[in-house]
Amino acid sequence: MSIARFWRETPRRYNLGGSKCTMCGTVYFPPRSVCPTCAHHRESIGKMVPFRLSGEGEVYSFTVVHEAAEGFEMQVPYVLALVRTVEGPTLTGQIVDLAPEEVEIGLKVRATFRKLREEGKAGVIHYGYKFAPIEDRPERPPRGPRAAADVPASAETDRAPA
Ligand SMILES: [Zn+2]
Repeated sequence: MSIARFWRETPRRYNLGGSKCTMCGTVYFPPRSVCPTCAHHRESIGKMVPFRLSGEGEVYSFTVVHEAAEGFEMQVPYVLALVRTVEGPTLTGQIVDLAPEEVEIGLKVRATFRKLREEGKAGVIHYGYKFAPIEDRPERPPRGPRAAADVPASAETDRAPA
């Protein structure tokens, strides 16, 4: 993605700014100017208002990515999830702060802003939302070697390479 396009999209990347149809109440992200849910689409023109998503939702589906796209090499394996937000729209994002084997359908998560990737030798760093577990679940005993004490919970992959 070009830097110019990225910056055009930045407000919604940072604010989760979508839109809401005041006719039927459906929330969209990314924002729409016409509501495809309303029976008569044209009636929704001018009735869409900005709406900021809370960023909270639950994992609807996910996959563990082992082969990273360019710029994500240092992050594998990572979990890419579909998150059904409490407001309705489904967002795609990386799950952070949790070992891949601990991610499960229905996991409660909240959007958090993290480095997405670095671009090329110029080291342009893109930020956007990722999803971290909401800390209201009971403490569970460590599962498997990845949860061992020598891998602190904060040892996620956003660090620059050494
Ligand atoms: Zn509508």
